[in-house]
Amino acid sequence: MDTQMLIGSKFERGTETEEAILNPRTGETILSLPEASPAQIEAAVAAAQKAFVTWSKTTPAQRSGYLLKIADRIEAEAEGFAKLEALNCGKPINAVLNDEIPAIVDCYRFFAGAVRSMPGLVAGEYLPGHTSMIRRDPVGIVASIAPWNYPLMMMAWKLAPAIAGGNTVVFKPSEQTPLTALKLAGILSDVLPEGVVNVVLGRGESVGNALINHAAVSMISITGDVATGKKVLQAAAKSVKRTHLELGGKAPVIVFDDADIDAVVSGLRAFGYYNAGQDCTAACRIYAGKKVYDKLVADLSSAVSTIRFGQADDTENEIGPLISRRQRDRVASFVERASELKHIEITTGGKPGEGGGFYYQPTVVAGALQEDEIVRREVFGPVVSVTRFSDVDEAVDWANDSDYGLASSVWTKDISRGMSTAARLQYGCTWINTHFMLTNEMPHGGLKQSGYGKDMSVYALEDYTAVRHVMIAHG
Ligand code: NAD
Repeated sequence: MDTQMLIGSKFERGTETEEAILNPRTGETILSLPEASPAQIEAAVAAAQKAFVTWSKTTPAQRSGYLLKIADRIEAEAEGFAKLEALNCGKPINAVLNDEIPAIVDCYRFFAGAVRSMPGLVAGEYLPGHTSMIRRDPVGIVASIAPWNYPLMMMAWKLAPAIAGGNTVVFKPSEQTPLTALKLAGILSDVLPEGVVNVVLGRGESVGNALINHAAVSMISITGDVATGKKVLQAAAKSVKRTHLELGGKAPVIVFDDADIDAVVSGLRAFGYYNAGQDCTAACRIYAGKKVYDKLVADLSSAVSTIRFGQADDTENEIGPLISRRQRDRVASFVERASELKHIEITTGGKPGEGGGFYYQPTVVAGALQEDEIVRREVFGPVVSVTRFSDVDEAVDWANDSDYGLASSVWTKDISRGMSTAARLQYGCTWINTHFMLTNEMPHGGLKQSGYGKDMSVYALEDYTAVRHVMIAHG
C-alpha cells in the first residue's frame, strides 16, 4: 500500500500528528498516517510554483497527452484502485469497479479532448483599427481539497480540469480517505513533470487551513460542508483568491399523481440510497401528490427493506456502511428526533446495523412536514423523507424553500408539466423521470449555499482558467 505524500518528485511521510485510517465495515484501523508539517506544505507549494513556469506554457495537445496517459494507467489498475476505495470507504466493490472507475477514467479523457477545443468569442475589430482576441490562461497554483464520499472521483473532478487548463496543484484528500489519492500519486509522479501535482495529507484545520491561506495559492477548489466553504471564502477574501465551491445538497423529488410509480420506486431505491446516501445529490426529500402518496410510501418502504448491505460476500452488497462512527451517530440522531414527532412514521429501517461497522439501516421517514428538520437539513445517510403536497405551486415552493440548490427531480408522464416544473426549480440540475445520472459533458454544481463551482464539462474548464482580452492597434 502506498503511504507517502508526493512533494515535487519526492515521496515523503508526513512528520506531524498521526490520523487513524479506519475500515468502516469493521471499525478497525487499517493504518495510521502522519500529516504534513508546515515545511512540507511550503515545499509542496514551492514545487507547484516551480512547475507552473513550464507547465503553463505547454500546448493543449501536450497536456491532453498527459491526461490520456493518466486515464490509461487508472484503467489498467482499476481493480487495485477499486479494492482500496472499497476498503477505505466501505463501498461495495462492484459499485466502485463498475460505476465509479469508468466515470473517473472518462473524466480525464473528457478534459483531454475538451481543452483542445475551448469555446469563446471570435477575434475581430470591435474598435476600428484594433483587433481584439480572447485568451483563456491558467489561473496559477490551485489548492484542491476533497471530501470523503467519492475520494478518487472528487480527485478526478478537481485535477483533470485544473491541469488541463495549465494550472499546477497541491491536492489534499480528506484525512479519512487518503488511500486512493496516495496510490494515484505514484502514477502522477510517473506520468507528469515534477511538481505539476503534489499530494499532501492532513486535517482541514491544520493542513487545509495552511493551504487556503497560502499567499502563493491563486485558487481554492473545495468540495465539502457549507461551513467549510464559508471558511474558504473568509480565507480567500484576505488576498482575493478565486474560489470553486461544491458544498452540500438536499435534493427535492417531486412526484406528480400521474407518475409511473414503479419507475419512481425503483429510482428512489437506487438514487436515494446509493453510497449509503452519502451523496450531495441523493434523492432524499420526496414530495408526493395526494393521490399517489399512500401507494408510494407503501411500495417504497417495501422496496427499501430489500436493499442488501452488511453481507460477508461483498459482491451481494448494494450499499455499504457510513464513513465513520460520528457520521453514523449523526444520521441516527436525525432519525431519532424525527421519530419523536407525532405526525411521522418510520416505515422501514430506523436503526443502526449490527456489529462493529458503521452501518445504518436504509430508512423511510413518512408523513414529514416541510418545517421538519429531517426535510430541511442534509442527513448524508440512507434516509429518505416523504411529504404529501396538494398542488404544483405548493410542491415547487417547498422544493425551492431550502438553503441548498444542487440537484432536484420531477416525475410525471406529462412532459409539458415536467418541463414547466423544471423551469421553476432553483437547482443546478433538474432531472425529469430520473435522478442522479451524471455525464462528463454536462456540468455538476449548485446554487445558493450549495456553492457555485462547476465540475465536469467545459464549464469546469472555464472555472479553472482566466478569461483575458488582448488588443492590437493596427499600425
Ligand atoms: P468537510 O467540509 O468536513 O471536509 C471536506 C474537506 O475539507 C476535507 O478534506 C477537510 O479536511 C477539508 N477541510 C475541513 N475544514 C477545513 C478548513 N478549515 N480549511 C481547509 N480545509 C478544510 O466535508 P466532508 O465531511 O469531508 O464531506 C461531506 C460534505 O461534502 C457534505 O456536506 C456533502 O454534501 C459535501 N459534498 C458536496 C459535493 C458537491 O458536489 N456539492 C460533493 C460531495 C460532498
